[in-house]
Amino acid sequence: MSNIWSKNPYTGESIKEYYKDTSASIEEKLKMAQSVQKEWSDKTIEERCELLQNVSELLLDRKEEYAKLISMEMGKPISQSIAEIEKCAWACDFYAFNVEDLLADEIIETDAKESFISYDPLGCILAVMPWNYPFWQVMRFAAPTLTAGNTGILKHAKNVPGCSKALEQLFLDVGYPKGCFQAILAGHEEIEELIRNDGIKAVTLTGSEKAGRGIAQAAGKNLKKSVLELGGNNSCIVFEDANLDKYLDTMVQARMQNTGQSCIAAKRFIVCPEIYDEFLERFIGATKKLTVGNPMDNDTYIGVLARADLADTLKEQVDKSLEKGAKLIVGNKKDGAYFEPTILTEVTPGMPAFDEETFGPVAAIIKADNRRHAIELANISSYGLGSMLFTEDIEHSLELIPEISDGAFFVNEMVKSDPRLPFGGTKNSGYGRELSREGILEFVNKKTVYIK
Ligand code: NDP
Repeated sequence: MSNIWSKNPYTGESIKEYYKDTSASIEEKLKMAQSVQKEWSDKTIEERCELLQNVSELLLDRKEEYAKLISMEMGKPISQSIAEIEKCAWACDFYAFNVEDLLADEIIETDAKESFISYDPLGCILAVMPWNYPFWQVMRFAAPTLTAGNTGILKHAKNVPGCSKALEQLFLDVGYPKGCFQAILAGHEEIEELIRNDGIKAVTLTGSEKAGRGIAQAAGKNLKKSVLELGGNNSCIVFEDANLDKYLDTMVQARMQNTGQSCIAAKRFIVCPEIYDEFLERFIGATKKLTVGNPMDNDTYIGVLARADLADTLKEQVDKSLEKGAKLIVGNKKDGAYFEPTILTEVTPGMPAFDEETFGPVAAIIKADNRRHAIELANISSYGLGSMLFTEDIEHSLELIPEISDGAFFVNEMVKSDPRLPFGGTKNSGYGRELSREGILEFVNKKTVYIK
């Protein structure tokens, strides 16, 4: 078995060695997941919800420990790691309190004596997850999917093996049957092999478009359902009547939180001309005030990227945009995994900063001719995760709903995930939904029952 070392991207130091799974050990884990599934789905919903509630409590008890692990493995500022764990607990609470209603039989009147939809588990679901929210991305899959009676196998990103193991242990510690939720440390080939195996009933991935195409292909070839939550290039549209006093900090946070490594971050700021100069000046001011530093310090807001190669990619994207005519206002310095908060103006379609997902603290600022032009620019994207609009004209924002081609439209708020609301994209941002009722229904058999 080969091994992998987790590394601290801030210090560059190796943290711990982990052993990768082999095809044989993966097969064994899959068998365990299959054999425990009946026992698990035979438990009552109340029993499964009680265990999930215990997960929530243990997450909060251990939040400092888990937050430290996240920050060490992927460089997230510690206060944001703590917030991530708290959000995981919230998602567990949401499903623990609501799954019974969400999965209740749905009666449909027909000419039958009784007809209804029954929601049954599918079996073992594979989750391929990224490093940017190493607990949250997993928990928003696991909380609904396991509580619906499925078992889960997690293949986490290779740079967060400690988080992966900690999550597996968390479910065991609160009393989930062994095999209900297991983590594997595996390469891409083993994942393709796993998807081919009859024991895996469906797969979910959060990650890049490239990974999405690979997983979707493997799933499609084997007629397995897939849910894909991929990259995004969200626009933040600023109309001339936007209330900057109230919302500027939200806009900065929308781009810079998690050191810019979020699929739903605001990546393109599309601003109406009347407010452009004031917006730019204030955005620059607020960005310069962000506290850059050691992820372990409580007041750090900008840490490092999760890996040095991610900073290299970002630098290339910025440099290419500059070559094509964008103007650098601030930033673009790189040191290892650190990337300085960066603002670009005069960004146009055809530049990486407009066309591609920039996964780091880089804000592309675009001046629109007017409101209509701003909406048109926002929709010029191969991605479709979410758009945000800042305006005092709520009536106009409601009229714009059909024109926004994304999976989410947030007005006077940053696009964010919430366990009560569906989350997912259109176009190259993937398909399917996570969270809310939509999310739990992705991995169940919606069985039609008809009794004459
Ligand atoms: P990837 O999409 O490559 O990684 C995400 C997860 O998918 C990891 O667990 C990875 O495993 C796995 N994976 C990737 N390709 C395959 C495959 N063919 N078969 C099986 N598993 C696969 O992200 P990167 O870490 O390379 O980041 C690159 C870019 O992706 C970022 O800059 C960003 O643009 C985007 N991204 C988007 C995220 C989102 O939230 N939507 C999250 C993370 C990245 P492994 O780690 O072993 O390679």
